[in-house]
Amino acid sequence: MSGKKIRAKTSEPLECPECGAMALRRAVGDCRLRDGTIVPKLKRLRCKKCGANLFDDEAMAQIESVRQAAAHKT
Ligand SMILES: [Zn+2]
Repeated sequence: MSGKKIRAKTSEPLECPECGAMALRRAVGDCRLRDGTIVPKLKRLRCKKCGANLFDDEAMAQIESVRQAAAHKT
């Protein structure tokens, strides 16, 4: 798995579980995961300090659908 799953919150900024900075911001855009999978227009939280990407349930579902689509290509 790439990234960590967190609960979505409504208040911002949020604390980054990686570096502890109150620097998480919502971001939307193409996201390359550590395994090379590229998820287009992925909504996630991104830490402005350390660059960590954090995915909520919706983002995780989007990642899974992209991975499954990629796995079915030959
Ligand atoms: Zn961070």
